[in-house]
Amino acid sequence: MDERQLDVLRSAIFKYGEQAQIYMAIEEMAELIHALSKHKRYGRCLESKVREEMSDVIIMLEQLKMMFGRVDEEVDKKVKRLDKRLREEDPALARMSYVERYRRWNR
Ligand SMILES: [Mg+2]
Repeated sequence: MDERQLDVLRSAIFKYGEQAQIYMAIEEMAELIHALSKHKRYGRCLESKVREEMSDVIIMLEQLKMMFGRVDEEVDKKVKRLDKRLREEDPALARMSYVERYRRWNR
């Protein structure tokens, strides 16, 4: 997200307040859950709805980061842990590039 967009999000927190934006985040996450649930049931025709709700959640997560602090270190730690688990479950992965892994899983 660029600085202009982040300024808009900061303005929303300032105008509506942190509590209102936290409730909005909860609502948007529920809408994403609902869209994913419908997508699972009805298939690809609802991908645009899933993308729309993902966008809403990303916007709300940016605001939550402004309120609760950045999460880059936690995200990095968790992605490394996931990578370790994937490699342990399939040792052949350790020798593959990310592109090779992607191809292998999308055959
Ligand atoms: Mg929404």
